[in-house]
Amino acid sequence: MKLLPSPEIWFVCGSQHLYGPGPLKEVAANAAAITSNLDKSRHLPLKLVTKALLTTPEEITNLCVAANADPNCGGLVIWMHTFSPSKMWIRGLDILQKPFLHLHTQFNRDLPWGTIDMDFMNLNQAAHGDREAGFIHTRMRLSRKVVVGHWSDAEVQQRIGAWMRAVRGWTDLQGAKFVRFGDNMRQVAVTDGDKVSAEMQLGFSVNTHGVGDLVAVVDAVKTRAISDLCAIYEKNYTLAPSLKKGGKRHNDLRYSARLEIGIGQFLEEGGFKGFTDTFEDLHGLRQLPGMATQRLMEAGYGFGGEGDWKTAALVRAMKVMGHGLKGGTSFMEDYTYHLSPKGHQVLGSHMLEICPSIAAAKPRVEIHPLGIGGKEDPVRMVFDATTGNALNASLVDLGNRFRLLVNEVKAVKHPKLPKLPVARAVWECQPDFKTACQAWILAGGAHHTGYSYTVTAEVLEDFTTIAGIELVSIDRDTRLTEFKQNLRNNEVYYHLNQGFRA
Ligand code: MN
Repeated sequence: MKLLPSPEIWFVCGSQHLYGPGPLKEVAANAAAITSNLDKSRHLPLKLVTKALLTTPEEITNLCVAANADPNCGGLVIWMHTFSPSKMWIRGLDILQKPFLHLHTQFNRDLPWGTIDMDFMNLNQAAHGDREAGFIHTRMRLSRKVVVGHWSDAEVQQRIGAWMRAVRGWTDLQGAKFVRFGDNMRQVAVTDGDKVSAEMQLGFSVNTHGVGDLVAVVDAVKTRAISDLCAIYEKNYTLAPSLKKGGKRHNDLRYSARLEIGIGQFLEEGGFKGFTDTFEDLHGLRQLPGMATQRLMEAGYGFGGEGDWKTAALVRAMKVMGHGLKGGTSFMEDYTYHLSPKGHQVLGSHMLEICPSIAAAKPRVEIHPLGIGGKEDPVRMVFDATTGNALNASLVDLGNRFRLLVNEVKAVKHPKLPKLPVARAVWECQPDFKTACQAWILAGGAHHTGYSYTVTAEVLEDFTTIAGIELVSIDRDTRLTEFKQNLRNNEVYYHLNQGFRA
């Protein structure tokens, strides 16, 4: 994946000088042992390094200053082996700009029942030391994740891993650049929003380039590069006969390859992590980019259709968060429903741009007319998505804040769709179709989403905690009465919490 960050996470242990140098040495050694064992866990996607044993306000403040200044520091895991009076942490935590996770663990797993004495008790005080730490975090209204359990516990490691994935997505968005070719689809509300607020709150910028800037790059692509890419297509996909070399529409495939190379070059040269386009603004392009966009998404770029820059950024962040896991992430749209009494289902798709990272089998490459946009027929990859647990996430701008909506779904097998000329997924919503769609609509969720088999609801919850944005979850436990009350409560909370800043 282009421009993929792999920041380190600093493991920080808190203590104090009350216990003397001997116990502190042991505390430091134990913290190092926990770090190196956790770092070996396959559940942790980022490197965890022992950073410091902190025992004074000055050490704590200096550590936080260093964390802020180090671009390779993604965040902190904080743990109190002993009691660390937490007024010592106020100044440091007040300036800390990196995310942190509070790990409530202890070095020993089992109590040594037969030998336990006061020395042991003094050395192993996380049970109350972490409560002192938790108080100051809450007193200072700091957002953080709290993970509880022995560090060798797989569930503890998975929860730390989920947070690391969120940190990686967050780190990736800070300073990320997204490009819009053209503006928003005319009159569409949900895809629009406040790009200044987004940059303040989420760290990424969105700027426009006239499509003519792109056309110049696309038109300059060399014939040889196009031929090479078409040879890769022939090798990797099942091409419609007319698109193959010698076929009567091979030139359309060549133009699609030209688009892929041209847009890819534009993104690379601009240092962009994703893009949007719109069928309403393609002046100088012969096709709406279909397969080109699909292949660029597969390479890790974020994408949103019709100028949807929020979804482009979200898809990119989700691709980063799910990196290395089996399954994929795509731009998606709730398209049409199967409302059978035997079970309601959603058919998700888009006019072209579904990422082949979610394909169940080798995609077919086809060419069909597109009823909108008034351009030549676009080339696209057609496939069924894989089945299994997945989720849809939508980032909406409510005017005074961003809300991330998440609905857990299950992608299912479906009848053949021989006439449908686009890639698609069919899923069933949690907790059920009617509840999920009511909740989604009441919460103002978009028709565009980031759709993923790799990113879990926990990862996205951690992401919203880090970003300080609202999370609205629709899952197996959703009850509409309570859900509606939560939306009302959140209106008040965010109004008071963010005021005029958002
Ligand atoms: Mn759309």
